[in-house]
Amino acid sequence: MIQVQDIHKSFGKLKVIKGVSFDVNKGEVVCIIGPSGSGKSTILRCINGLETYQRGAILIEGAKVDPADRSITSIRTQVSMVFQRFNLFPHRTALENVMEGPVFVKKVSRTEARDEAAELLDKVGLGDKLGAYPGKLSGGQQQRVAIARALAMNPKAILFDEPTSALDPELVGEVLAVMRDVAAEGMTMVVVTHEMEFARAVADRVLFLEGGAIVEQGSPQEVLRNPQHPRTQDFLHRVI
Ligand code: ATP
Ligand code: MG
Repeated sequence: MIQVQDIHKSFGKLKVIKGVSFDVNKGEVVCIIGPSGSGKSTILRCINGLETYQRGAILIEGAKVDPADRSITSIRTQVSMVFQRFNLFPHRTALENVMEGPVFVKKVSRTEARDEAAELLDKVGLGDKLGAYPGKLSGGQQQRVAIARALAMNPKAILFDEPTSALDPELVGEVLAVMRDVAAEGMTMVVVTHEMEFARAVADRVLFLEGGAIVEQGSPQEVLRNPQHPRTQDFLHRVI
């Protein structure tokens, strides 16, 4: 479903991605772990066309991702992203935040978008917060609105960039629980995370990225419990 083929990316003279390749099959959850600055966010941004790259190719269901293509049919509108800092519109309610994409990008009728948004908010446990503004919601609730918003686009895949890193520890669990539900329903997901327990429980595959390259990849059991590469071992010692 997602094919990342030998991606190379530099910012000026700084090489940040040095030949990264991996595939994500339909319905799979792939977790990316690695130290700060290793290129995790950059890879996600390349996958959904927010960032260009100098070499290689990224395909979604066989179609090449073209960062220059701004059309509503472009692949970049078919992959949703959930960010560390929820990025909700502050002057719109939870319901309006979730409706926004379907109405303005997909040209769905307001009535249909509203029904769908209410259903999705209910699904993420916020059925009683439809009219709430982001400022009145906890970080965990805001992130759940952001996940509902991503789902509302009916995407082929959802990319998560450290979705719980900005949350108070007691709010992390409720967001991970929603992500687990989304995974259980068969959504294709790429998740950059430091939540090793989540990766262990939910990921089909774990990639360890360092210095813009994949150092090691495999099942959670292989990479997290029994890492072969000294760099992976060293990283896991530091984060666990
Ligand atoms: P973190 O865990 O801190 O989020 P990361 O693994 O997501 O780190 P990236 O954000 O992908 O890392 O950054 C990889 C490298 O690219 C870093 O050295 C970063 O400073 C650099 N970088 C990222 N975005 C830009 C940019 N727009 N311009 C210049 N350099 C950038
Ligand atoms: Mg990052």
